[in-house]
Amino acid sequence: MTATAATLDAQAKINLALRILAREENGYHQLETLFARIDLADTVRVATDTSARELTLDGPDVGPRERNLAWRAAEAYMAEAGWPHGFAIHIEKRIPVGGGLGGGSADAGAVLRILNAIAPRPLPDAAVATLAFRLGADVPFVATDAPFALGWGRGERLLALNPLPARELLLCLPPFGVETGAAFGWIDAQRREEPLRAPAPLRPQDVDRWDGIARLAGNDFETPVIHRHPGIAACLEALTAAGARIARMSGSGSTVFGVFDRRPPAELPGVPTGTRVVHARTLTHVAQVRPLD
Ligand code: ATP
Repeated sequence: MTATAATLDAQAKINLALRILAREENGYHQLETLFARIDLADTVRVATDTSARELTLDGPDVGPRERNLAWRAAEAYMAEAGWPHGFAIHIEKRIPVGGGLGGGSADAGAVLRILNAIAPRPLPDAAVATLAFRLGADVPFVATDAPFALGWGRGERLLALNPLPARELLLCLPPFGVETGAAFGWIDAQRREEPLRAPAPLRPQDVDRWDGIARLAGNDFETPVIHRHPGIAACLEALTAAGARIARMSGSGSTVFGVFDRRPPAELPGVPTGTRVVHARTLTHVAQVRPLD
């Protein structure tokens, strides 16, 4: 693609299944997850015809720019590829922050995809995947264009799956986020009381239909997070009562999603005050990079 600037919808993810497995010596946990991309997205634009480094953002304050995952993705790409010589990133933020929807990761994945699409000499996919892995456990998945994938390790071992028919979702967005590091600490504390009994591995053939996913859907963060935020349980109950085939928390929370086989109801009685309910869909195709010049 010959362009100096491009844009991409940085689509969020949900975890249809999320299992937290052994804690490594270095403190990181092994995980096993079934990721799905959804149509809730930030818009990310990157221009490379500059020698400056800039990041602008429409939306909530997400902290200093040097800590922004989109900025860090651009710096990592520059260091690896020796290109570009500067960047101007603009993000229109719509994905709730700290909600378990991987918003920061999606922005980082979008920057990597944009830069590699317009680079004069693109990096091999494996090199982009390594940059993504260094940025966080969700970034390798959202740096691909797979709508569904199984993920293992720290999210870097991925198996892209065939897309499933799109389903409508309701997302319950509580008025608070959950800090992922704290949630891992709650799991460790719980496991000191009650050691992990590893479940049977998630196999691609078990999750190639929505029925199979409904049987295996689960999230190890739910119990410890609900213990501290009982409103999450109320969201799960409200979605189930409204007919959701699957109702689960995404990531370490606080977002709770319901997967519906039919059009979901317009109202969701029983959700705690202050919780926003948003309509979304799973994807059969992930957005592609669009050149701007
Ligand atoms: P995960 O499930 O990966 O933990 P999340 O959806 O819970 O993701 P994010 O919205 O990605 O969490 O944000 C978590 C933290 O990352 C925020 O506190 C924010 O300061 C930081 N952050 C860095 N870059 C971004 C970004 N581009 N957008 C949002 N948050 C960002």
